[in-house]
Parts: sequence; C-alpha cells; structure tokens
Amino acid sequence: MVIYLAMAARSDNVIAFPLHRRRELQGCPHCGRRDDVWQIGRLLWAYCEVHEVRWVVADDAGVTRATINRNELKKGLEFLSTFAEVTR
Ligand SMILES: [Zn+2]
Repeated sequence: MVIYLAMAARSDNVIAFPLHRRRELQGCPHCGRRDDVWQIGRLLWAYCEVHEVRWVVADDAGVTRATINRNELKKGLEFLSTFAEVTR
C-alpha cells in the first residue's frame, strides 16, 4: 500500500489529493459514525470500527518525510489495513 509521498508536496495547494474524484464522506456510509482518524503520510483517514470501513478526510501537503514517525506510520497502516476503503 503505497499511498504517500509519491509526488512532491505542493505548498501552494493544501489539497493535492484528487478530492474531486472521491465521494465526500462525513461519516461511515452505513451508520454516519466516525470513530477516530489516523494520519498516514499526508492522508488523514477516518474509520468506523463497527462496519470496518475507512475513508480519506484530508490530505495534508505539509507533511513531509521529516515529520512522519515511522513507527506511527507502520501502526496506522497495520490498523487501517483491516478496514475496507470506501472513499472511491
Ligand atoms: Zn459504521
């Protein structure tokens, strides 16, 4: 799952992720809940534990390699990999 830092961050565009290509999700499509968020690279993922789904809520172009905690990233990836992505 390579979803971060594939391209250089554009400082003039906070939302570099193609947000127009995804559905806007404020909460779980099944129950509307949002348990918490995980920062994975520059993407902020929200998830619903009950329905095991996750979706992107933000793309933080300000996150660089230097600000990424590798242990946190690994933990986040392992955690989120158990959820189905519903962003697209
Ligand atoms: Zn749910």
